[in-house]
Amino acid sequence: MRELLPYLKLYKKHWFSLSLGMLLGFATLVASIGLLTLSGWFIAAASVAGLTIARQSFNYMLPGGGVRGFAMARTAGRWGERVVSHDATFKLLADLRIFFFRKLTPLIPGRFSKLRDADLLNRLVADVDAMDHVYLRLISPIVVGTLGIVSLTFFLCWFDMTIGLTLGGILLSLLLIWPILFYKLGKHNGTHLTQNKANLRIATLDWVQGHSELVLFGAEPRYRQAINDHQQKLVKNQFNNANLTGLASALLLLANGWTMVLIIWMAADGMNGQPPGPMVAMLAFATMACFELLMPIAGAFQYLGQTLESARRLNEVLTATPDIHYPATGVEQCQDASIQLQEVSFKYQDSEELALNKVSISLEAGQKMAIVGQTGSGKSTLLQLLTRQFDVTSGALLIDNQPISQWTEKGLRHSISVVSQRVDILNGTLKDNLLLAKPDANDQGLVAILHEVGLEHLTEGNGLDAWLGDGGRQLSGGEKRRIGIARAILHDSPILLLDEPTEGLDKQTEQQIMQLLHKHSVNKTVVFVTHRLIGLDAMDSIALMEQGEIVELGTHQALLAQQGLYHRLHQRL
Ligand code: ADP
Ligand code: MG
Repeated sequence: MRELLPYLKLYKKHWFSLSLGMLLGFATLVASIGLLTLSGWFIAAASVAGLTIARQSFNYMLPGGGVRGFAMARTAGRWGERVVSHDATFKLLADLRIFFFRKLTPLIPGRFSKLRDADLLNRLVADVDAMDHVYLRLISPIVVGTLGIVSLTFFLCWFDMTIGLTLGGILLSLLLIWPILFYKLGKHNGTHLTQNKANLRIATLDWVQGHSELVLFGAEPRYRQAINDHQQKLVKNQFNNANLTGLASALLLLANGWTMVLIIWMAADGMNGQPPGPMVAMLAFATMACFELLMPIAGAFQYLGQTLESARRLNEVLTATPDIHYPATGVEQCQDASIQLQEVSFKYQDSEELALNKVSISLEAGQKMAIVGQTGSGKSTLLQLLTRQFDVTSGALLIDNQPISQWTEKGLRHSISVVSQRVDILNGTLKDNLLLAKPDANDQGLVAILHEVGLEHLTEGNGLDAWLGDGGRQLSGGEKRRIGIARAILHDSPILLLDEPTEGLDKQTEQQIMQLLHKHSVNKTVVFVTHRLIGLDAMDSIALMEQGEIVELGTHQALLAQQGLYHRLHQRL
């Protein structure tokens, strides 16, 4: 149960509506029981009165009004209770999603980047949703039920102490036994249900995302079968759940029936020393009605296992500590855009070998360095350290002569622009996709930049409101790269990091993009990663990397003169 604690704390903010919901639930329960009890007594008393002299004096109006009043109160109460408690739980779920998302973002990249998208989505949607059971199915029915039982016992004790206490005792023990019994019965199945639901989603998303590839390789039926298998398991879990729900209700009805027999038997000899009268009917109906307060509890606790498993999955994320910790106050602004790496080594968490081995680089503000080397030599890793996706394993990394760990996240992001190897296009308009780099840019500015990067054709038709990404215009590799460059230009920071910005592009586009980058990087400190040895004579220095080490460092001319590896690579071109 400790798993639920972080969520109960979120309840504080909505305590008023949550308590109001329970109060209305209690009022509805009183009206429900009152309705049956009063009508039972009224019908019996009226018929008894009809047989006797009392028919002249029997007051039909007052109980009749009471019955009508209870009926209306029950309807209004139920409506009010649903509105208030559902409103509160939806708000609570919204808070919980935001709370979860806030905790999640600093964890990526890091260990959590390994979680599958579908799994995270499932946690964010299904597992968070399962948390509404805690209030609607567990807390509220238990609180309302307990209050109901106590009040009913007091009410009945007023007529007959023994009968009141007997009924109260039976109800209270059922209130204790049912949750424990059905929690135990449903626990195993519930845990599996949560896991199987996640697996089904992961398999389905896999199938949808890779569908064209799967069809081309003829592997589609196999993957579809995997979805079917997961679905079968889930259906089996749901079947078990339905069986348990049925069992819980059936046993409760059985208990109800026998309790009623017992109460009638006890009341048959008269109540409180009085001879039996219409009060017997009142008791019988009260017993019948009071099981209404146990109904919501009957099946609810079989879901507790499921809810606890969801809570556990959420807690895995909520309690994780991020690998990177940014200081709350620190360096906010870049005065002098210099970069220093002093004997920097880095190892990925799950890897044996060093991805970077004692790399030392020194760049004055405004200098431009190219990093060349084969695929896998550690070039992208170096850029990731500069943006603090990871912390160095040993050595020091300084930006503006300050250790990178002294920078606030905002300050660091403000000072560095990146055109990454893979430019992500978000689901949204062209404008959204550009504004993320500079939220206060105006439309004219955006159109001007699009012209400059050669993407003016994207504004045809819907203009800046053209939809990109899923369900929108699909961009080619070159177009995506240009969007990435447009973002970097908009962001306009003193340090510019480029990770193979022209990879996979044709010669002509490559040249255009290089010119564009040159034009916009005057006065900026640039680290330019490439495996194409073209146009590097314009760079202040070139570092040649191999297996995580810098093996040659110098200007284009110096490296050629050295007649080493760089020279050989250049010759081969
Ligand atoms: P480059 O950009 O020069 O092609 P990378 O910096 O991407 O090379 O990779 C350097 C080495 O680190 C490679 O051997 C690669 O397999 C490994 N590597 C890259 N990213 C990760 C990661 N997230 N986890 C573990 N190893 C990684
Ligand atoms: Mg790379």
